[in-house]
Amino acid sequence: MKIQHIFFDLDNTLWDHRRNAYLTLKDIFNRQKVSEKYNLNFEDFHREYFTINERLWEQIRDGEIDKDYLRKHRFYDSFLFFGIDDLELAQLFEDNFLDEILNYNDLVEGAFDLLEYLSEKKYKLHILSNGFKEVTYRKCELSGIKNYFETITSADEINVRKPHREVYEYALNKAGAKKEESMMIGDDWIADVEGGKSFGLQVVFFDVFNDNYQAEGVEVIKKLAELKNLL
Ligand SMILES: [Mg+2]
Repeated sequence: MKIQHIFFDLDNTLWDHRRNAYLTLKDIFNRQKVSEKYNLNFEDFHREYFTINERLWEQIRDGEIDKDYLRKHRFYDSFLFFGIDDLELAQLFEDNFLDEILNYNDLVEGAFDLLEYLSEKKYKLHILSNGFKEVTYRKCELSGIKNYFETITSADEINVRKPHREVYEYALNKAGAKKEESMMIGDDWIADVEGGKSFGLQVVFFDVFNDNYQAEGVEVIKKLAELKNLL
């Protein structure tokens, strides 16, 4: 059966989370004079933060920790890596981060072009994100892509995350979409690819960070524009 519904992951698939987070953290870092106070270089801090944050998100995905744990630890653990034990500073970063990241809304290269192409071809487009519901909708709105989507679903709404089938079920129901005519595209191998595949969707792995995973029946693209060859 022909694909009619396309479900996109949001962070790092369409919305350039890595870049927007980088710019936001740089602002907060400079404003708090962390370099001067602690003799810590921003690039070093950011590299460590990126690794720690990715790992914590994997743990959320795998049900090992909850959102509050992540929010308490991602900055605290990043600073602690450099021997800076400062709960207050970490908390200040966390509080400012979620508000201020919405000041930056860069999209992944080729996102607009792809969404325009797909909607001209009459595909029905949807967002299915594991991100916080407080920001998912606003990220779509502020980056100017909201109107391309018929539904925007945050796994937070039902407190079950990809790769679990309940959240796929929930998103497809909300969209009025059938499995056989739906496709999932995302950058997380487990949440988006394995989750979508085992639920019964066609899946495309957007290998934006060059993870080089492969599996039978999984299309892999390195640039969003490559999706045009498949749809
Ligand atoms: Mg993602």
